[in-house]
Amino acid sequence: MSVPIMKNYINDEWVQSNSKVFGDVFNPAKGEKIAEVAFGTNQDVNTAVQAAKAAFPEWRETPALTRARYLFRLKEAFEENFEDIARTLTSEQGKIIDEARGEVRRMIENVEHATGITTLGCGYSFEDIATKIDCVGYRQPIGVFAAIVPFNFPAMVPWWFLPYALVTGNTYVVKPSEQVPMTQTKIFEIIEEVGFPKGVINMVHGSRDVVNALLDHKDIEGISFVGATPTAKYIYERCGATGKRCQALGGAKNVVGVMPDAFLSETISNAVASFYGCSGQRCLAGSILAPVGDIADEVVKQFLNAAKKIKVGNGLDENTGMGPVAGKVHQERILDYIEKGIAEGAKLILDGRNCKVEGYPDGYYVGPTIFDNVTPDMAIATDEIFGPVVSIIRCKDLDEVINLINTRDFANATSIYTQNGSVVREFKYRVKPSMVGINIGIAAPMSFFPFGGSGNSFFGDIKGHGQEIFHFFTDTKVVIERWF
Ligand code: NAD
Repeated sequence: MSVPIMKNYINDEWVQSNSKVFGDVFNPAKGEKIAEVAFGTNQDVNTAVQAAKAAFPEWRETPALTRARYLFRLKEAFEENFEDIARTLTSEQGKIIDEARGEVRRMIENVEHATGITTLGCGYSFEDIATKIDCVGYRQPIGVFAAIVPFNFPAMVPWWFLPYALVTGNTYVVKPSEQVPMTQTKIFEIIEEVGFPKGVINMVHGSRDVVNALLDHKDIEGISFVGATPTAKYIYERCGATGKRCQALGGAKNVVGVMPDAFLSETISNAVASFYGCSGQRCLAGSILAPVGDIADEVVKQFLNAAKKIKVGNGLDENTGMGPVAGKVHQERILDYIEKGIAEGAKLILDGRNCKVEGYPDGYYVGPTIFDNVTPDMAIATDEIFGPVVSIIRCKDLDEVINLINTRDFANATSIYTQNGSVVREFKYRVKPSMVGINIGIAAPMSFFPFGGSGNSFFGDIKGHGQEIFHFFTDTKVVIERWF
């Protein structure tokens, strides 16, 4: 059966890469090939960067409000195509359609926030810094930026950066994940309809070669990266070596604590969504459940009951509670971790292996899985599994929970469930991860707050979106003036 081949979008045109290497794109619910993507080349990257570079002088001079108006039009076009984007996303990534809709909503919120450029992009000035001398700090765009993004949020993640880069007057190249290239392709079809000036936004599909070509390109000023920690570290080091600005968001191993005074029914339903939403493939997903003290048995019992009720299936079916994982290799990796947990001596109380979904025998399914009696040094408690596998580590008190959190190699997000204000204060003050939920299992900062962790979950200083991102995409030029 013939399938569409994803093309690059360069200089306002759809172009086929000259690459001889192609990747297959699968619908993970069915295990069926639905597209091919060419793994772009140095030449593709160079053509895109040159287009973006050529577009920069005119785009830079375009008044900020005019640039923002392109985003207003884009927002409207995204709203009109909302369902279409969400369905494409589910078809290639697997997450349930409601989660896909949520992702598209978050993508649009970044476009909305970026339109605040005329307030958020202001510089500052000071009269009389010395006698008859004034000083002005102008926020100037820098040139061509690029985003390199992961498979789990194919619509939203590039838009944590792109609208801010554009609205501040820079031009852009996006490199989607080669596993899920169709969603951004759909989004770029909408960009084409809206009609940005030629070369302002470009997209090159591909894998490592495209990434390396972007990292080495002398005309790229900065890179925004989201993906696994080893890749994030590599990107950050390489940007350092080539003198580029860099923000590199990495992996996670998030701990969710439940104190003895937590409201259990709300806690359990909320925590279950944290651990199993997007089949555990969220950088904010809970991975370790840490019930404290006497409440532990009850938490485990209720969590287990709720997890057993999740209906696994095709994400396009509105009744599905959890979709497949995104790929076959990924599925095998998760299953390996379940074997590892068993070998390490943890107690498997819910087994998601051999998860069968009627009508979809070839889909990449892993059912909700729970290990009890996990210890902090086991691989299932240290490594990012990125799947629907929960490790329960019972803790005696808050100190033990905080210690568990702060001894993970990652520090992306964490949550605590309690009704005690002083516990909350202690928790948020001492934990290392920088996205913290209080009675909230997915502490996802909205577009007007920064998104990113600390430790090995983040390399750089300015995170995704929020107010700070306007600084990532601008240089503050300071002019000190005296007139005789
Ligand atoms: P990944 O690191 O494998 O891939 C991310 C991007 O980097 C892709 O575009 C890929 O083509 C490229 N890439 C991969 N390996 C490379 C290499 N060796 N050299 C050059 N480029 C390379 O990540 P993934 O598997 O697509 O995504 C899952 C990971 O992303 C998880 O670790 C998850 O926690 C993380 N993530 C983090 C956040 C966050 O906000 N911190 C958000 C979403 C996902």
